[in-house]
Amino acid sequence: MSKMYGRQCLADQINNNINSDFEKVPAMKNGICQRCNQFSNFFLPNQERYCRNCIGLGRICEKDYLYRNLNAKHYKPLIDGGLTWQGKLTQAQERVSNELIESFNKHKDHLVHAVTGAGKTEMLFGVIKTCLSAGKTAAIATPRIDVVDELYPRFCEAFSRVKIGKYHGREFHEPDDEQFIICTTHQLLKFYQAFDLLVIDEVDSFPFHNDPVLHFGAKQAVKMQGSCFYLTATPDEKLLKKAKQHEIGYSLLNRRFHGGLLPIPKNQLYLRPFFKKNKLHPKLVKQIKKIIDNKKPLLIFVPRIAQLPTYHQIFENTFPKLKIASVHAADKDRQNKVRQFRNQELDILLTTTILERGVTFKSVQVIVLAADDEIYNTPSLIQIAGRVGRNKDDRTGLVLFCYHHYTKSLRQANYQIRKMNR
Ligand SMILES: [Zn+2]
Repeated sequence: MSKMYGRQCLADQINNNINSDFEKVPAMKNGICQRCNQFSNFFLPNQERYCRNCIGLGRICEKDYLYRNLNAKHYKPLIDGGLTWQGKLTQAQERVSNELIESFNKHKDHLVHAVTGAGKTEMLFGVIKTCLSAGKTAAIATPRIDVVDELYPRFCEAFSRVKIGKYHGREFHEPDDEQFIICTTHQLLKFYQAFDLLVIDEVDSFPFHNDPVLHFGAKQAVKMQGSCFYLTATPDEKLLKKAKQHEIGYSLLNRRFHGGLLPIPKNQLYLRPFFKKNKLHPKLVKQIKKIIDNKKPLLIFVPRIAQLPTYHQIFENTFPKLKIASVHAADKDRQNKVRQFRNQELDILLTTTILERGVTFKSVQVIVLAADDEIYNTPSLIQIAGRVGRNKDDRTGLVLFCYHHYTKSLRQANYQIRKMNR
């Protein structure tokens, strides 16, 4: 069982093949699960307490033990950290990149506050290179599977001499001791003191935000002397306060990598109702026609999965000549549809919030239907607006929020976008 470095698991997950590499700790203490830190009041028929909260990772019972492999594997330092990327950072990206390397060398945590489209990925190359070239371990974790899928090929290309691990709930495979992994934040619960550098991308996003289990998992996964970096376009008060008090490092990047501004949502479209008797509101039809006439791909956000079929039908009735698809989290064909949309084989893609962040489509225009729905908070509205104008050859575009009520989230999103543009 050599391929379990930095992992924590139950005995049956390592086929009871327990050697001296593993430290054995009770899996529950006073009813608190040691993997997810939650108190449990659930009992098996034999009256043994078990944790239901993290049961998806293998059931933890009161009499079980967690085995933690703390026997640090020594990775051979990689020349140049395995970085083969030949691109060039902008001056602003370079500054942030250097700030990250500095924090990592000082074993400090760091907050990167960067607008959507700032080119966060490229800014990480330097610090990952520093980490890997010292024979240390790195992980990039994000709450969203789509973001893992988007980041993974980009890092594989940039670090073509490194074998990068990819872990999320939809693509299970056995652990394989990679020095550098990209995973969902859920996966971090399987690690213990494993990483010298842990980068959490989209830290404001669901489900990481406000989930104490995932925060606990992230804290456990990084080494005592390691660094945790937080990346976000909309940091919360707690992180900003830590940054202000110099408890953690801080980098601000309020320009997109191509120097362009964030698109300001054109949100005066008050519509009621959005459709009537299977017909879309004429104002909305007019807007959509304009976009299609300009030959731009259109991404339309719908708050709930249950509403997708209705909207899909209405859009097909209204625009019978257009190629339209809809996509949501549980859609088996999701990756394929996203690829088709990226290749401009579709005119309109109707989606839930799963595509609110981490994805890039050239020249895309965005409409949010029912932008006043409670499902959209300020960070998600900012992210959605941030899908537009990401390409250096096409820096502007339409973001249209349609609503009945002008909510606090809408107001805040507009305020923050304008503030970042100042
Ligand atoms: Zn648990």
